[in-house]
Amino acid sequence: MADQFDLIIRNAAIYDGTGAAPFAGDVAIRDDRIAAMGTVTGAGRAIDARGLAIAPGFIDVHSHDDFAVFIEPEMDFKVMQGVTTDVVGNCGLGAAPYAAAHAVFRAFHSDPKVPTWEGYRGYFEALDREPASLNVAVLAGHGSIRLSAMGNAKRAPSGDELAAMRGTTREAIEAGAVGLSTGLIYEPGRYARTEEIIELAREMAGTGAVYASHMRNEANQLLDSVHETIRIGAEAEVPVQISHHKASGQGNWGRVRDSLKLIEQARARGQDVTADQYPYTSGSTSLAAVLQIAASGGHGSEGELAGIGPEKILLASVPHHPGYEGRNLKQLALMLGLEPMGAARRIVEEEGNGAIAVFEVMDETDVRTVMSHPTTMIGSDGLPMGGKPHPRLYGCFPRVLGRYGRDLGLLKIEEAIHRMTGMPAGKFRLADRGVVRAGAFADLVVFDPATIIDTATYDDPRRYPKGIVHVFVNGTAVVSDGKHNGARPGRALRRG
Ligand SMILES: [Zn+2]
Repeated sequence: MADQFDLIIRNAAIYDGTGAAPFAGDVAIRDDRIAAMGTVTGAGRAIDARGLAIAPGFIDVHSHDDFAVFIEPEMDFKVMQGVTTDVVGNCGLGAAPYAAAHAVFRAFHSDPKVPTWEGYRGYFEALDREPASLNVAVLAGHGSIRLSAMGNAKRAPSGDELAAMRGTTREAIEAGAVGLSTGLIYEPGRYARTEEIIELAREMAGTGAVYASHMRNEANQLLDSVHETIRIGAEAEVPVQISHHKASGQGNWGRVRDSLKLIEQARARGQDVTADQYPYTSGSTSLAAVLQIAASGGHGSEGELAGIGPEKILLASVPHHPGYEGRNLKQLALMLGLEPMGAARRIVEEEGNGAIAVFEVMDETDVRTVMSHPTTMIGSDGLPMGGKPHPRLYGCFPRVLGRYGRDLGLLKIEEAIHRMTGMPAGKFRLADRGVVRAGAFADLVVFDPATIIDTATYDDPRRYPKGIVHVFVNGTAVVSDGKHNGARPGRALRRG
């Protein structure tokens, strides 16, 4: 008797996620798994994918969707890119302890109607009860943990405070978190010494959980910061992920060649060190954070915001002054009759952490150098918020495939796909994900390799990419013929 399948996707170019060259064939789905692949004989509804490619669903290793998965559970901005798994909790901003996490995330979700939860176990259970359209893997956030244990204290923790932080970290790892993140430019993470982070990261030794860091400095102290990050991994004996790897500020352009060498040297010593990247020359974060860096005498000359000219700072989300959105700080300063620094201060006084800006700080050559390196994965760093978010929120993955892969030939499509599927699934211990293979979960994206491209821009960021045809999450279609169907088959993914 012929095998019976729920769906057979026929005649696609199969990119299996390992980096191997594509081959023509069929992929059959039964329940939540890939049941067969290659030349599939069997019965079931079939769709013809001739001329299209099929790949494992993309894994966004660098997201900030901890609360968005409840507020906008269809997660259209991600699944319409082909993303089937989000790794949330980056840059020290985690989902628990709840009060501290909620206080931070309130800044970019103006009316966060979300369930409450107790600890990371509670967060996983909330995801189980209210699934999103995509899967969610979870990093614990050092900033949230520290804020909960000791407020915004600008000092090392006491013995009791450190014990509390270790307890929360252990709770997260035991609940299934894939690692611990830090944001060492932000409050309160910037007040943590290296030793504090080593102590916390040690809670993960032997578990496979990863230390992921938005490093202390991505500008003129980039190399010191990479050294610190690698040291934490070595002393705590845990794998390391360098977040959104870049050299920020024109005076530092080109330094990524040296920082990549540090990664190579650590790997040659046997350490597991990798990085992630979004494919743009602008970053995005809160204006308040950049003002704090400037105020603390951080990188940059006097009167400038951390070395960034005011014309290169674009206001993206200003909840109480939406009229400011889309204008740069130079224009706003003229409008307000203030110096750029004064204008930035006034906006932060009025908006707190809610004012998010886009900063043109990177060199395109550096972006390409980092992307060409075999240790770089793809992570959007998208900030789900109002106003005009950085276009990476909507366009990151198709941009890597279409622009950097197909159009510029910077890396082969199979290699680009590996960096967003099999490679992150291995690093973050997402079992049976990130690969097209019989028995693996049916997280799949069917796309047109000839047309795939991002269309989101800084002026008009809420635009879906072109070329994504079908997306399946745990065997269920979420995007069919380019349209989100509202299904929410995502799962909370526990490590391993
Ligand atoms: Zn970050």
